[in-house]
Amino acid sequence: MSYSGGMEIPSRLPLLLTHEGVLLPGSTVRFSVDSPRNMNLVKHRLLKGTSLKSTIIGVIPDTRDPEHEIDDLPSLHKIGTAGIAVQVVGSNWPKPHYTLLITGLCRFSVSSVQKERPFVLAEVEQLDKLEQYTGSASESGTEDGELGELSQKFYQAAIQLLGMLDMSVPVVAKFRRLLDSLPKETLPDVVASMIRTSNKEKLQVLDAVSLEERFKMALPMLTRQIEGLKLLQKTRKVGPDNEKKAPLIHKGFPSRQFRLDEEDEDEDGDDTTVLEKKIHGANMPEAALKVCVKELKRLKKMPQSMPEYALTRNYLDLMVELPWNNSSKDCLDIRAARTQLDNDHYAMDKLKRRVLEYLAVRQLKTSLKGPILCFVGPPGVGKTSVGRSVARTLGREFHRIALGGVCDQSDIRGHRRTYVGSMPGRIINGLKTVGVNNPVFLLDEVDKLGKSLQGDPAAALLEVLDPEQNHSFTDHYLNVAFDLSQVLFIATANTTATIPPALLDRMEVLQVPGYTQEEKVEIAHRHLISKQLEEHGLTPQQLHIPQSTTQDIISRYTREAGVRSLERRIGTVCRAVAVKVAEGQLHISDSGGVTSEGQQAAKDTPPAMPIVIDHTALTDILGPPVFDMEVSERLTLPGVALGLAWTPLGGEIMFVEASRTEGEGQLTLTGQLGDVMKESAHLAISWLRANAKTYRLTNIVGAPDPLEGTDIHLHFPAGAVTKDGPSAGVTIVTCLASLFSGRLVRSDVAMTGEITLRGLVLPVGGIKDKVLAAHRAGVKCVILPKRNKKDLEDLPANVRADLDFVMVSSLDQVLNGAFEGGFPGTARTHTPILSKL
Ligand code: ADP
Repeated sequence: MSYSGGMEIPSRLPLLLTHEGVLLPGSTVRFSVDSPRNMNLVKHRLLKGTSLKSTIIGVIPDTRDPEHEIDDLPSLHKIGTAGIAVQVVGSNWPKPHYTLLITGLCRFSVSSVQKERPFVLAEVEQLDKLEQYTGSASESGTEDGELGELSQKFYQAAIQLLGMLDMSVPVVAKFRRLLDSLPKETLPDVVASMIRTSNKEKLQVLDAVSLEERFKMALPMLTRQIEGLKLLQKTRKVGPDNEKKAPLIHKGFPSRQFRLDEEDEDEDGDDTTVLEKKIHGANMPEAALKVCVKELKRLKKMPQSMPEYALTRNYLDLMVELPWNNSSKDCLDIRAARTQLDNDHYAMDKLKRRVLEYLAVRQLKTSLKGPILCFVGPPGVGKTSVGRSVARTLGREFHRIALGGVCDQSDIRGHRRTYVGSMPGRIINGLKTVGVNNPVFLLDEVDKLGKSLQGDPAAALLEVLDPEQNHSFTDHYLNVAFDLSQVLFIATANTTATIPPALLDRMEVLQVPGYTQEEKVEIAHRHLISKQLEEHGLTPQQLHIPQSTTQDIISRYTREAGVRSLERRIGTVCRAVAVKVAEGQLHISDSGGVTSEGQQAAKDTPPAMPIVIDHTALTDILGPPVFDMEVSERLTLPGVALGLAWTPLGGEIMFVEASRTEGEGQLTLTGQLGDVMKESAHLAISWLRANAKTYRLTNIVGAPDPLEGTDIHLHFPAGAVTKDGPSAGVTIVTCLASLFSGRLVRSDVAMTGEITLRGLVLPVGGIKDKVLAAHRAGVKCVILPKRNKKDLEDLPANVRADLDFVMVSSLDQVLNGAFEGGFPGTARTHTPILSKL
């Protein structure tokens, strides 16, 4: 029974094959499509062109096994519904798919399939009148005989159903209006898609091409719904609420479609069914499952246009994606782990040993309870990189969470789901990204956590890191506990000073000090150069950097504790060479280095010969050296001394300068000093005044009180960097002693130590980093507090061998060691010099 006359659908329709849900004429259904053919259809037909006709597509329920979809098109279902896509939404998450909102227009049958790719296109025959569903035709004539009777009966039943529903709900009111305005022959389709029917039943209605058959098919479904509702109302009446009307469950779009049963809707044809399946398949704990089921129920009742729909949908999508019980298998073999760590990193023996111990204990105990490792050290010393290696040795996923600048606790713990735009915190997000519940999380820069009105992120982290609590970590967004106990946390920081104490308490701090010059050369040649060559598409056959050049780069172009700028400089060299190689304009100097063009006649470069970067080539590429000012050049005037400072970026040398002018005994301090440092300056002056006679110090005109008629200015370059701490005490004393006596401080000496008013020298921290900085700067002798002697054991042997150490316990000994041939008036007692240990 084919239809002809009136409005017609195109005779050729692109077909959307749907596994879930059946579209009936007169209703609107949301389909999620992700199969290649359907995706192509959307791309080619719906997203291109604007005419209405082009958006009419055929929707065919695909009853075949999804796995065989590609193969047997001939067995396609023969009857479908032509429809208009009223909305197309694309998304890439969790995988590329489109969500289509399609309103059914009329039935059609497939005559023949024209083509199968890129999407199915078929010759179709229209089976229903188009007008009746679009509501554009006036009331069609009343049918006689059996059909008329049937349709009347159906109409009555629909009215009866409506009577049982709450008319104050807009959808019900609208249904009521529709019922009167729509032609009777459309009722089976419209009603069947609104009441609770399974896909199979909808398919039967769709297949019922003859109207009579359709009424016969749909009537029992309607009656069943009425009976079910009656039963429900009966039970409600005896219940506490005594509700009169059954609540209505509807799907918000379009108002013609709604649901009448709130208890369970597992056979719902749209993508909530898929979601439901996923929820049950996500292997989540009971509590989470309960929440999901509840939310899903809410979701089903919600109109899709409501903002909360998207919110709830996103929430459920996240819940099913989280690796509740999904973990990767640990494959820890301590021996292999050691090899791996050694292969990945040169030096850092102490750190590697401790990491291996940690892993070994974990393997024996098979539990993660225990302190969190926190690598503390200057930037570029390989903290992140060791974290990554640990993950690799364990065969675990690695995820880095940057905490620098995080000042809102919702960043860690998520936003509550009460407002649009709320998100889970970084921990939960990280778990979603890695897809397993036992990754290695690197909490980068815990020392740079901020604080603000939005709560303290450190407090939130405490909960994450506490093994007693973190098995039930509750993200505000999820609002159900997630077990973090399998996650291996490693933290990194530049300094422990700014880590909140409570957080620090949970962690075992492993210091990662800076590298010596020699270690850097090794690291460069074992790791950095090959890495950079590869990054720039070069081979060792094309570029060779000799050790002497690396040393040059380290000492003249970088001044850092780690190897990050070294790596960058090597990168610069690689880029320059890459350009030359690409241009083929290479000239090799006699020494083997690259010279600038034109300097010398071009020679034919043997193809297999690597470009050797010598000193000249280096200056060509990197420009004049950045750090060429030798320490000795700065110490050519009285009133300058070299101190050693510790910063989160590693140790540094620090000059202290002093000058005096005629005045009234005022002290000026510049260089952004903290209170402690200012106090050190006052201490130093007081001590020198008290001992001026002993050391024969005089003022500007030679009077015995150095401050009489004299103003003193102390400056600590670099002026813009804030400095604080007591360890500059000895340097200030030396600098002032030099100023008051007119004697030069030894040009190869650096010092550190806290002073007291009585002239004692107290131990200070950061000795290793400070000594390494002195070594980098080419200092030959370091004056250190005696009680810091134990710290020297941490130093690499070659550094100890290169330096003289003067261990002091009093300022007298400091002055003695800092000036060539001792200082006049000092006790000249024997100062222990640990010469070239
Ligand atoms: P951090 O996290 O301490 O700031 P990174 O881990 O990012 O430093 O290290 C910077 C770079 O230096 C990385 O490319 C890393 O591989 C390299 N590196 C640092 N230390 C070593 C080492 N001991 N051996 C090999 N490479 C290293």
